[in-house]
Amino acid sequence: MEIACNVTRQAPLIAELVNLATAHWRGGASVRPLVGEELSATFAVQLGGRTGADLCAVPDAGRHLAELATELRQALLAERPADQAARINAMIGRYGAQPYLVEDVGQPFHLHFHGSGGTQVEALGGEFATALALIVDGYGPDRFGVCEAHQCEAVYIDLTRNASRRYCSAACTARAKTAAYRSRRHA
Ligand SMILES: [Zn+2]
Repeated sequence: MEIACNVTRQAPLIAELVNLATAHWRGGASVRPLVGEELSATFAVQLGGRTGADLCAVPDAGRHLAELATELRQALLAERPADQAARINAMIGRYGAQPYLVEDVGQPFHLHFHGSGGTQVEALGGEFATALALIVDGYGPDRFGVCEAHQCEAVYIDLTRNASRRYCSAACTARAKTAAYRSRRHA
């Protein structure tokens, strides 16, 4: 199974955008979904470099990012594969994703999926929608989930070989293990 290395880099970014903008519980704590400039500035740090700077320069970036995050969450958590595929296809169309090769300084050509027009939010939308399509194609439709740890509704994208992921983070994996250990001792 060959998946563009882009996808493994983008999967955690997709989950992070969705979680920053839509989760009310993360890692056992109540959190406030980020909106507006707080959302765009925080996510720009995750992106880093020129992409992050370009994102902050988009007018009303936070609102557009929040819309993108909502679309991504609905696609990730769609109950039926046909519904999920339809949502991902709609995003690919809406954000005008198209494959083209890009050469970064000192690196070999690699494949990107956003058109040359549009804002950085639209570029991200195209990249992320295509990444989800490649994951469904390469790994199947069951690789997206919500963290099973107590008081956490963060989403994750599971790119493990054996589809074993159940938690959003190492911290939640540890919390769930501790909780299971305690309940066994009480039993
Ligand atoms: Zn979690």
